[in-house]
Amino acid sequence: MNLISEVIDQSRKIVIKIGSNVLSDDRGAVNRDVLHNIVEQVNTLIKEDKQIIMVSSGAGICGVGAINKWSRRGDMNYKQALCAIGQVELMMAYKEYFGDYGIHVGQMLLTKGDLQDTHRTLNIRNALFTLVDEGVVPVINENDSVSVDEIKIGDNDTLSAHVANLWNADALIVLSDIDGVYNKDPKTRQDAELIEQVSDIDRLLEEIDIGEKSSFGTGGIATKIEAARLVSQYGIPMILLNGKKSDIIKQALSGQETGTVFTGRQ
Ligand code: ADP
Repeated sequence: MNLISEVIDQSRKIVIKIGSNVLSDDRGAVNRDVLHNIVEQVNTLIKEDKQIIMVSSGAGICGVGAINKWSRRGDMNYKQALCAIGQVELMMAYKEYFGDYGIHVGQMLLTKGDLQDTHRTLNIRNALFTLVDEGVVPVINENDSVSVDEIKIGDNDTLSAHVANLWNADALIVLSDIDGVYNKDPKTRQDAELIEQVSDIDRLLEEIDIGEKSSFGTGGIATKIEAARLVSQYGIPMILLNGKKSDIIKQALSGQETGTVFTGRQ
């Protein structure tokens, strides 16, 4: 058993974050096979007595797929309109796929203000505990249609870290389109080397190159590393895996696939 499989195996409460790049295909539409496979894996984890909260990006790309226009419009109001449309599509897909296993989903759309207000945070926490205790899988996203720059969390990596902290999760799994953190951007540099274990985040940042932000994802690798820092303040480990690979969480659990694990200690 390696450290990643050990962390997943020993975690009962797991937050799983799915990036836009994972859910989009080459043409920028939603990759339903990938989403279906992730839901199937979550069902397997639940059968193994684990509790799961999902944080899912992808409303924007679902919106483009649904309405088939505005994909190139840069104006904020159109982006927000696309997210409003796509969020429904996204949840319909989750509802359908989880429904195959008799599992209900519950949607929560959060903004930065929700996480800054103690009273609201407590309500979110109570709602999450109730949903999970009742066997429902919460699917959380940033409320993009009301979030303009000043009040934005900005990326779901940070949101998933806050959710992991306030739910007292045992682990945060971030699914992206790369195998983990590399010493340089693996998309542009063929000689990039995977870093499988990180215990000192500051040292990591001194040692690696961080490329450009992606066209769909808003965060890039930097926000994933900062998410790892946020959860490490609560002693929670974070695992970065390639969500585009079929059965990735199951394979990581059985030690057949690897990624990057941030050990959760400061
Ligand atoms: P997501 O949509 O899954 O949140 P992002 O596109 O925001 O994903 O961030 C992941 C991307 O970060 C990768 O596809 C990769 O090209 C880029 N990246 C830049 N530097 C690195 C690095 N040192 N290690 C890993 N990925 C990196």
